Amino acid sequence: MKDITINPAIPFELPPLFEGRHLINGTWQDSASGETFERRSPSHGHIVSRSAMGGEVETEAAIQAARKAFDSGVWSRASGKERATLLLKVADLIEQNVDRIALIETLESGKPISQSKGEVGGAADLWRYAASLARSTHGDSHNTLGADMMGVVLKEPIGVVSIITPWNFPFWILSQKLPFALAAGCTVVVKPSEMTPSTTLMLGELLVEAGLPAGVCNMVLGYGVPVGSLMSTHDGVDMVSFTGSTAVGKTISAVASDTLKKVALELGGKNPQVIFPDADLDAAADAVVFGVYFNVGQCCNSSSRIIVHEDIADDFRERVVALSRKVKFGDPLDPTTQVGAIVTPEHNAKIDAYVKQAQASGATIALGGAPLQVEGLGDQFYQPTIVTNVQPEMPIARDEVFGPVLSVLTFKTLDEAVALTNDSAYGLSAGVWSENVHTCLEFARRAETGTVWTNTWMDGFPEVAFGGFKQSGQGREIGRYGFEEFFEVKSVVMRIGNSRTPWVPQD
Ligand code: NAD
Repeated sequence: MKDITINPAIPFELPPLFEGRHLINGTWQDSASGETFERRSPSHGHIVSRSAMGGEVETEAAIQAARKAFDSGVWSRASGKERATLLLKVADLIEQNVDRIALIETLESGKPISQSKGEVGGAADLWRYAASLARSTHGDSHNTLGADMMGVVLKEPIGVVSIITPWNFPFWILSQKLPFALAAGCTVVVKPSEMTPSTTLMLGELLVEAGLPAGVCNMVLGYGVPVGSLMSTHDGVDMVSFTGSTAVGKTISAVASDTLKKVALELGGKNPQVIFPDADLDAAADAVVFGVYFNVGQCCNSSSRIIVHEDIADDFRERVVALSRKVKFGDPLDPTTQVGAIVTPEHNAKIDAYVKQAQASGATIALGGAPLQVEGLGDQFYQPTIVTNVQPEMPIARDEVFGPVLSVLTFKTLDEAVALTNDSAYGLSAGVWSENVHTCLEFARRAETGTVWTNTWMDGFPEVAFGGFKQSGQGREIGRYGFEEFFEVKSVVMRIGNSRTPWVPQD
């Protein structure tokens, strides 16, 4: 395709095949069945990793190890200081290993190497923040219950947590969950996506190196069924913390209900950025381009639809098209590449089907609209794509397309912009661009989403909770709210002195 920026393949040396084993009770183990599965790089086609294929045997063993470790108190009753010290050590180790981990992250996922380095390096800060929480956990005290009564409300770790993660940010999302669960005193069983298992294991190696006691963090490789499903139903598990698709989230919620275990879900999104005519249009256009192409558009927070005031719609579209032509698509190993490969050929075909279906229903392709051939790498890439004349009922405007594809809708009034924003099964995030603070505040209060960005997009901090309304999830992650998810609350009511009036009549 002409007039877009493509980085062709650069020479590189394939690292040795990553051989992945389960981490169960502190030891690295092959599967009882001897079976394995492989992952090919979406961009280069090379086999990057071969992993032990987990089944019920390994999952059961991992859950038992986590249960035993939790009940022993080796971690659940360790002091906040001990837990924090270990988490800080892990943060340092992550930073010392960024390049090694990021290379495997890029080879398994297809995302640009610069973004893998940002993801892995940035995750260290999540571990540091969780360390600070480990030392500041506290409940409540009640000293006004009467002269002879006192109450305390204790926070206790919820127990064994199953952590199930998706393929698109394997290292980051695990770090949104694991250090917080560990800071609370929980023990865990982790299952990474079968498409990107290896960097989770690299983090497991760092946990072992940092001295985490055996059984506190266990890792099982394999598919959703049987590994993830047993992790969601087992009565030795107290909570499931899941990030992935809304469809799988609903399945987990349903099967976990039999044991009434707690379920925290971070799911999909169809996130709009709303642009008012008084906005800084250059800044907004840049954020829209970032929002739709970051992580190859395969991002829960992708701003895959924009809602633009009709007075500026043509001008704004032209700005976004012009910037899109400059974004560097291509070899994820080139440090200047901004958009890499699509995770699987099947997913690339699915993205294309959404675009073709929209076109057939009357939408217009302002840019792109087809798979992208990258010299030396093949066609598991997709062109930067901007679709206009999109109607709110079209699947491209409602579903998570999960690719570098932007749908453009228009509005006339703030009420209409809010209605279009909220006309979605999802409610993960939204953005508003205006120089008028009243417009931003009104929009922020009326958007049915877990996050609202005003005059920015996708800025995140370990301190600030993240999660979704509606079918984007339940519960929160990171920040103090995310940390709270990993606790049970226990009330201890105490009488001071022998002042209790007997219930049984006295002779
Ligand atoms: P997915 O739902 O296909 O898989 C996620 C994980 O669930 C994988 O580890 C998979 O093996 C496992 N799984 C599959 N079936 C299961 C079952 N029956 N029981 C238990 N586990 C099962 O998602 P994906 O394609 O890996 O990731 C993309 C999705 O994740 C998108 O929808 C994206 O929006 C979402 N996501 C959400 C957030 C967020 O924070 N809200 C962040 C990243 C990704």
